Amino acid sequence: MKFDKSEALYQEAQNHIVGGVNSPSRAYKGVGGGSPVFMKKAQGAYFWDVDGNKYIDYLGAYGPIITGHAHPHITEAITKAAQNGVLYGTPTALENKFAKMLKEAIPSMDKVRFVNSGTEAVMTTIRVARAYTNRTKIIKFAGCYHGHSDLVLVAAGSGPATLGTPDSAGVPASIAQDVITVPFNEVEPFKEALEKWGNEIAAVLVEPIVGNFGIVEPKEGFLEEVKRLTHEAGSLLIFDEVITAFRFTYGSAQKLLNIEPDMTALGKIIGGGLPIGAYGGRADIMEQVAPLGPAYQAGTMAGNPASMSAGIACLEVLQDESIYEKMDQLGAKLEAGILERAKKHQVDITINRLKGALTIYFTNEKVVNYEQAEATDGEQFATFFKLMLKQGINLAPSKYEAWFLTLSHTEEDIIQTLDAVDYAFSNMTKK
Ligand code: PMP
Repeated sequence: MKFDKSEALYQEAQNHIVGGVNSPSRAYKGVGGGSPVFMKKAQGAYFWDVDGNKYIDYLGAYGPIITGHAHPHITEAITKAAQNGVLYGTPTALENKFAKMLKEAIPSMDKVRFVNSGTEAVMTTIRVARAYTNRTKIIKFAGCYHGHSDLVLVAAGSGPATLGTPDSAGVPASIAQDVITVPFNEVEPFKEALEKWGNEIAAVLVEPIVGNFGIVEPKEGFLEEVKRLTHEAGSLLIFDEVITAFRFTYGSAQKLLNIEPDMTALGKIIGGGLPIGAYGGRADIMEQVAPLGPAYQAGTMAGNPASMSAGIACLEVLQDESIYEKMDQLGAKLEAGILERAKKHQVDITINRLKGALTIYFTNEKVVNYEQAEATDGEQFATFFKLMLKQGINLAPSKYEAWFLTLSHTEEDIIQTLDAVDYAFSNMTKK
């Protein structure tokens, strides 16, 4: 495979765009550098790059593309929206229709608001929770990613129940003082944090099923205990379902896990590939938001007809629950096949999978928290990533990301992928 045109475009990109990319994870920093592949066209489960190479895609644009690329029903909806004008700045009936669909699928949301990204959605849930509780601090869990707003770019302190330090330059230490980070899947440190700061905590923010240090499910009873203690402290529970909503079932992780938060942040899949975010929750909490209440949030592009149309069309496709079963079956085949080949070539891996989403960790340990995900072998992953890419399999360039199946992937694709895995593992040094 040749990548000459991608390499030339990356050179050029670096003259104009900071780092050559518009989101840092697109550069191959997580896999030892090199030029990222520049894609030209996507259709179904496939990508074609500027050099003419074809790939089976498991990136799914980091989650939104659950139908596969250029799904005809979504493409038609976007085309129609474009013909009618993409942006009005006035209310439209499409917003009502889509809000109703979301509320029916996620019943913990009495009211919703559309925004333009997951970052905005999470950022605003925190503001609303602060307005509602009249408190300032939040608790979050190590390794969960909640977008790039100041407050959630704060890492864990040195111990479990310590205040945070900024994770990014430009985030003031004064802001980090309002964030406490504790390990996912452990009740004790969370309890400790609440004992120390309980009456100052506005909200507890969590990915109910983690997607950002690989796919990690909550241990039995963990979220129930988090919810109970959060409410006991007079704080609100926010689920960040930007990745999980409509990923595993028609609805959210709340439905799968049978546990409801006070507020939910959404994004990715609900836009059918166009920019979107949304947040919602109990009516008395949501009524804090302007123009009804004192918590301000606005957006020129919010609820735009193009994103609404794409989102509605995407959900219409997903309403057929059998697609989730199909993705589960393909996921199971992929998982079993990868494990078999790892055994054959004596490569140590662990797979976390939930239905059509999975993560391969290069370790022989179980992974249930961020510390364990961090300790997995990044060099092995980087080698694997590059060997897969050269065989036409496009994965996310980071050991922390998931493989996402879509309704467009076929058994043939899985067989081809497993052949590539076999070759990759056979070329990896044993550790
Ligand atoms: N929350 C979660 C759980 C996410 O995975 C992401 C993005 N990866 C975000 C929030 C931020 O969403 P966006 O990139 O649309 O701002």
